[in-house]
Amino acid sequence: MDSILSRWNEVLKDMENLVTAVSYDLYVETLEPIKIDKNKLVLLASTLTNKNQLLKLHKDKLLNSVKQHFDNVEDLIILEPGEKDKFLEDIRQAEEMIEAKQVLNDKNKLNEKYTFDNFVVGKSNQFVYAACRSVAENPGKKYNPLFIYGGVGLGKTHLLHAIGNYVRKNKRDLRILYVTSEQFTNDYIQALKADKKENANKAFRDKYRDVDVLMIDDIQFIANKTSTQEEFFHTFNDLYQLDKQIVISSDKHPRNMELLEERLRSRFSGGLIQDIQKPDYETRLAILQKKVESERYNVDSDVLSFLADRINTNIRDLEGSLNKVVSLSILIGKNRATLSEAEEALKDFESTKTQNLTIEKIIEMVCKNYHISKDDMIGKKKKKEIVDPRQICMYIITELLDVPLKAIGEAFGGRDHTTVIFARDKISERIRTDKVLKTDIDDIIAMIRQDLN
Ligand code: ADP
Ligand code: MG
Repeated sequence: MDSILSRWNEVLKDMENLVTAVSYDLYVETLEPIKIDKNKLVLLASTLTNKNQLLKLHKDKLLNSVKQHFDNVEDLIILEPGEKDKFLEDIRQAEEMIEAKQVLNDKNKLNEKYTFDNFVVGKSNQFVYAACRSVAENPGKKYNPLFIYGGVGLGKTHLLHAIGNYVRKNKRDLRILYVTSEQFTNDYIQALKADKKENANKAFRDKYRDVDVLMIDDIQFIANKTSTQEEFFHTFNDLYQLDKQIVISSDKHPRNMELLEERLRSRFSGGLIQDIQKPDYETRLAILQKKVESERYNVDSDVLSFLADRINTNIRDLEGSLNKVVSLSILIGKNRATLSEAEEALKDFESTKTQNLTIEKIIEMVCKNYHISKDDMIGKKKKKEIVDPRQICMYIITELLDVPLKAIGEAFGGRDHTTVIFARDKISERIRTDKVLKTDIDDIIAMIRQDLN
């Protein structure tokens, strides 16, 4: 019984004794508590006149009473009817601004929040984690360069910062530089444009050559920039020859970066190339638990299993949905988030739509799309017109469902899980270059989702 409403009721009781009955009925009882924003209680008045009267006659009494019943509230904001939506929108925008700023900061310097200690290790990332640790403990000695790749929101940036933070703490004499490839490009362009070329070039070189650990995030963005690649190649060589550590992240394996120069590709292959995968259920749950602990969120434990179950896209989505659940609960004045906010938060979330999806259902839809029978789909025929849809179907299942590969193999006439892996990898390879196939598959996935609505 600690919600905004119950506390507001206490305030009403006080006020009933402090102001005339008419005043109470007109100006006080008609107020609607909306939320607590920082240390201000936000109230909505029923009309502008009522708001002005209240402020004129009873503001002090009201504030005193509010202060007694709401810890940490120090002031009131009283809105008139037309202001409510704008107010809520402003708050939302302010929150977004803070987030955006944080992202910007992350781009420019090491983010202390991203450490090895708060990186949850599971099957999907244990190798990449081990490689990053090893590099942090012995920069330039073992895996050089270290190239890590994987989809968005899976922890690449976190790991790069973790390396940086570790080195900064444990090897204070080493110089670390973390940049995104965009920043590298901008610095390079600035140096080219500068009037005093020599100075600018020197500044660029000092910045990038005089380092012990250079980390470049999202290298895929320089892939289509020829002269930047050229400059990066020289930077790379200089550092490499001096046994300086280079760590690179990308959304793809170097062999799948179409516009990457061959000589860079071969440089990258000279070190360790390690992928980072989507986390499984256990890892997702562990990540949520860790986040709740570190942020001291007050959340029912079934909320966490619910989110871990539903959100299988990436960790950024997972964290985003947890934040949303918590802010929803705060917005309605609860001090503990429960399943009902979690359900609310997930309404828009795409992957909730796959909750009733089964392997059988996907097989059925893919059969329909390619006009082949289910027997052929799961049977042994080796004709291309059958094999292609079969592999596509296996790929789509791995994309949409978080089920064991073994179970998928079984659904396809008792095939081995290695066949599923082969199909999945083959199709994900093909859609990188085959735009028609990619569109086809996107359409089928959209159709499957549509069908669930
Ligand atoms: P990427 O750079 O691959 O797109 P990020 O490193 O930005 O992904 O990760 C997205 C969010 O998920 C970050 O807030 C990060 O801290 C968090 N995160 C990713 N992997 C883990 C993990 N294994 N344990 C804890 N948090 C993680
Ligand atoms: Mg990143």
